[in-house]
Amino acid sequence: MEYEPVIGLEVHAQLLTKTKIFCGCPTTFGAEPNKYTCPVCTGMPGALPVLNKQVVEFTIRMALATHCNIAPYSVFARKNYFYPDLPKGYQISQYELPIAEHGYVEIQLNGKKKRIGITRIHMEEDAGKLVHKGTIETTEASYVDFNRSSVPLIEIVSEPDIRSPKEAAEYLKELRTLLQYLEICDGNMEEGSLRCDANVSVRPKGSKKFGTRTEVKNLNSFRNVEHALDYEIKRQIEVIESGEEVVQETRLWDANNGKTLSMRGKEEAHDYRYFPDPDLVPLKIDKEWIEEVRKSLPELPDQKRERFVSQYGIPEYDAAILTATKALANYYEKTVAIFNEPKTVSNWIMSELLRELKRDDKDIEDILITPEKLAALLKLIKDGTISGKIAKEVFVQMYETGKEAREIVEERGLAQLSNEDELSNVIDEVLSSLPKEVEEYKKGKEKLFGFFIGQVMKRTKNRANPKLVNEILKKKLKG
Ligand code: ADP
Ligand code: MG
Ligand code: ZN
Repeated sequence: MEYEPVIGLEVHAQLLTKTKIFCGCPTTFGAEPNKYTCPVCTGMPGALPVLNKQVVEFTIRMALATHCNIAPYSVFARKNYFYPDLPKGYQISQYELPIAEHGYVEIQLNGKKKRIGITRIHMEEDAGKLVHKGTIETTEASYVDFNRSSVPLIEIVSEPDIRSPKEAAEYLKELRTLLQYLEICDGNMEEGSLRCDANVSVRPKGSKKFGTRTEVKNLNSFRNVEHALDYEIKRQIEVIESGEEVVQETRLWDANNGKTLSMRGKEEAHDYRYFPDPDLVPLKIDKEWIEEVRKSLPELPDQKRERFVSQYGIPEYDAAILTATKALANYYEKTVAIFNEPKTVSNWIMSELLRELKRDDKDIEDILITPEKLAALLKLIKDGTISGKIAKEVFVQMYETGKEAREIVEERGLAQLSNEDELSNVIDEVLSSLPKEVEEYKKGKEKLFGFFIGQVMKRTKNRANPKLVNEILKKKLKG
């Protein structure tokens, strides 16, 4: 029997507001525990929440970018449960009437476009953080840090439209790109500003009915999302093949052992006893505000992609890679503004630069080579100071040290040999050391020409100007 996975993601994004969602405490990350707290975000009796307008505006931005309908009237609800990181005993979220619904994002996979439906986007507050002393086996003490309590989040719930772990990762990447372009979330998965719970079920291929789903929590990288889903799909198929039934439950991804583990039975919405929060008035959003936000939206990835193709004349493939993050797109544009050969710049970024970054698992923000420095390197190739081949070596040095290309070229004597007399001498030396080959060449074995060039390049440590070598060598072999 062939099976087909059905996947839906719940994604939490931490918003980049200066203050929390219902009080004026700063959202600053990494401060001393409990420094940024007040009676509201620590749930003191009598303290009342006041909605942060910026949170609503940021959510409208995402709703517009994902083609959602924005509700003229939405309501905050209490989601009741006990946990030590939740001082009020409930989380303020949205339930029946969320701010946005019925949108989609478009992903690209193997050159094909696909729409993934967005069920809803709602606003909510984050919980605090528990810090445990000792090991998991022998916890000595547990502390609670409320700095994160009431930091604003949006939850983006997808339709069960995703059909493979790869698609899930692509969808999540697209969401991150949008959030970053909109400047409403930094998208840092390791630090938890972007988190993903993956719901997955399997069904016989061709079947219309959904199977029983499990929900995998704790996915903090694209790789983990893919691996956890791969594992979970295999596990569910094995369960079904052995004649048993998949249990609807919440599971945890154990990245160290590459397994999902059962965490708890699935809670249902009614378990939380949702009800409208009596401390907050319903939220009304008028059309004028939405239009104002729409007008102020920055250029989105699709628009930038199209603009790169038309403005710079680069292939769509290049444009898609260069606009993957706003930072990379800016880097590209800055470099082209100084060295105006768009395709050359694109080639260098896509091959040399992204290769180094990928190997070191770094972002463009971490790179020591500024756009100015990359442009200066490309100028050295263009004016013949160094060959393209040497430039690649220089690039690696620049990447490691942050030095200017010219400095490295001077320090290591890498400038191209373009002095005809000098080259002529080297070529004479090479040819006189290879009398047999020269003889054969003159008798008609012309493919030896490449071999001679190789020998000259070797003797000059790749510094010889290949065009000149070619010309001089031809003359000498004719004579
Ligand atoms: P809950 O909070 O109970 O997990 P939500 O409605 O917030 O419920 O999220 C449910 C998620 O699970 C959605 O992303 C949805 O697309 C997905 N989903 C629902 N049913 C299935 C299913 N049978 N298989 C896979 N995913 C599913
Ligand atoms: Mg869920
Ligand atoms: Zn506070």
